[in-house]
Amino acid sequence: MKNEGKKENEQGKELDETEISQKKGEKQLFEVDRRSVYRCVQCGTCRSVCPVFDVVGWESANTRGRMLIIKSLLEGMHPSEDVLPSLASCTTCGICASRCPAGVNPPEVVEAARTQLVKCGITTDAQEKLKSAVMTYGNSFGETTDRKQWLSEEELSKLPQKSDYVYFVGCLDSYRYPESAKKAFGVLRRFGVTLLPDEQCCASPLLRTGFKEEAEEVMERNLEQIRKIGAHTVITSCAGCYTTFKNNYPEELKVISLPEFLAEHLEELNLKKLDLTVTYHDPCHLGRHNKVYDAPRKVIQAICTLKEMKNIKENALCCGGGGGVRRGYPDVSLELARNRLKDVPEGVDYIVTSCPLCVRNLSDAGGNIEVIDIVELVAMAME
Ligand code: SF4
Ligand code: SF4
Repeated sequence: MKNEGKKENEQGKELDETEISQKKGEKQLFEVDRRSVYRCVQCGTCRSVCPVFDVVGWESANTRGRMLIIKSLLEGMHPSEDVLPSLASCTTCGICASRCPAGVNPPEVVEAARTQLVKCGITTDAQEKLKSAVMTYGNSFGETTDRKQWLSEEELSKLPQKSDYVYFVGCLDSYRYPESAKKAFGVLRRFGVTLLPDEQCCASPLLRTGFKEEAEEVMERNLEQIRKIGAHTVITSCAGCYTTFKNNYPEELKVISLPEFLAEHLEELNLKKLDLTVTYHDPCHLGRHNKVYDAPRKVIQAICTLKEMKNIKENALCCGGGGGVRRGYPDVSLELARNRLKDVPEGVDYIVTSCPLCVRNLSDAGGNIEVIDIVELVAMAME
């Protein structure tokens, strides 16, 4: 009788545990798109731009090193925790993709490889904690309090049940920057925008760290509510939520970032001019990944003087917060933020950005200029 549940090799010999996991790993790693991996000609152009490599300094922590490790995994290298410092430390900033002469999209390949590692049970503690917080509590912090505590009972009771537009607040604004959430919704509600009754994390942290199956479950929880409300457009104030809704949600939804919405409605907002000079930090997932460059600048210039950073738009440096790096490698993450702060020009009153994760990471890096979300600037101009 055959060994039920036992795995055997081609010669019918029972496999030991290492062989089983090797086999499992090989099979699953085949799922990474080989063409994207083999397109890399290892020219090293990306070496000069990877912000993580700049801080860490190991070959394995730069884009080319990550691509080589993924190639080795595809070619039979046993997947183990040894690859995590390389593959889990990419912020998915995408600056390498914008420079690669061979047209490789390394953050996409890294995310696919992370998904395979998750399937092989190879994850960092930080990734596991993040996953269980999202799956258990619906937010990336494991918060047990109400996500909409920034709204009064009366405001909650007046939320439209049906609307064409939904404001997706996101975990960071809901729990860490409720004042920004309040200000953003204060503007949006004038246009009939509503909120999800039981908003969950957008699933970005799960997707970026490789928990694809779990991400699908969380996305479905949000989608069910959006369908019920009948909304065709989702407005986000977080760059991570924006790119996730735009590129990962399985349905045709129109997705607008808050700065795009604000730029479209500048006249109705009736903003006053402020005697301020600010600079603007392009969040990677709003800028480089989705090319939203002009809208935030249009809003800022309607209010005050904009003095650009040294590296902007396609060339903007990462704040260091994305891709699970802030949680997994906090020192590296903050060092990236400090490097970004070196790009801030002299004589500015604020660093403005359009993503709460950028606000948080750049603020934590300890510069002497306050970092604020664009909605804060708009709120100042409405007072
Ligand atoms: S990812 Fe692109 S830029 Fe980097 S080594 Fe490969 S081919 Fe060169
Ligand atoms: S996405 Fe950014 S952090 Fe990741 S390999 Fe490319 S340049 Fe480095």
